[in-house]
Amino acid sequence: MQLFNEDYNWYKGNLHTHTNKSDGLLSPDKVISLYKKAGYDFISITDHNIYNEGTEQEEFTILSGIELHINDYKSRKALHIVGIDIDGDIDVPAQPTPQDLVDAVTEQDGLAILAHPAWSLLTHSDAMDLRDYIGIEVFNTVSATKSNRGNSSEFIDTIASKGCIKLLFAVDDTHFYSDDLFGGYIMVNSPSLNTKDIINNIKKGNFYASQGPEIKQIIVDGNKLYVETSPVVQISFMSDNFFDEKRVVKNEDSSLICNTTYTCSEKDSIVRIECMDAEGKKAWSQFIVIESK
Ligand SMILES: [Zn+2]
Ligand SMILES: [Zn+2]
Repeated sequence: MQLFNEDYNWYKGNLHTHTNKSDGLLSPDKVISLYKKAGYDFISITDHNIYNEGTEQEEFTILSGIELHINDYKSRKALHIVGIDIDGDIDVPAQPTPQDLVDAVTEQDGLAILAHPAWSLLTHSDAMDLRDYIGIEVFNTVSATKSNRGNSSEFIDTIASKGCIKLLFAVDDTHFYSDDLFGGYIMVNSPSLNTKDIINNIKKGNFYASQGPEIKQIIVDGNKLYVETSPVVQISFMSDNFFDEKRVVKNEDSSLICNTTYTCSEKDSIVRIECMDAEGKKAWSQFIVIESK
């Protein structure tokens, strides 16, 4: 089974951006024009507690968005939820629980994404006890460039191995518009750029997260996974098994590869694919549930 539809197009988007309506430096118009010029097809503006509406422009789509958060420095608890494709302003209680933030988004049929778990110093139970969110940020650019805690892939693998399997997103979380933009994005496989198609294909997991490399196709054939990428130095098959000597595929001399096939072991029940190019930039597939062993 091919995971990506070859009759569809690929659309590049960043679902986590701040503007000067909250703590970002630039105006929404300037932000939109920067992302357009950089070749993005869609973004969502997700200011802290401020609803930003969605619109469809010519060849560029803006998805409505917001970021809701708890920052409790006394108890060292931070938990941020990005809400995408919501209908309007969101009221959260004065002292919200983490679940209140997710519920506020899902009550409007929005997509709730758990933001930057590594930056937030979340425990695994913080993420596993939360219900009804669709995704989690595997990479967050501003958390990487300003806090050196941008990559949450190990956190995600741990909770996934215990049954908490979410869609993986890479985002910028742009604030300063210096080194915190164009570092992480998603590529959505969709028949069109209209809001409905982009949202539906995100919900279906018909996308991958990236800092640069492409994941062109994944074919699942029983317990075999075939992947085709842009030229990379390494392709890894990250599963809920502890050790597999076949997991990391690379050439001894670091020469480039563009595809490989992995045969799952009997201990693999979920696998995600992660590849890395010669500059160290990564791309992350969604988790694949291995049904045939
Ligand atoms: Zn945040
Ligand atoms: Zn943010």
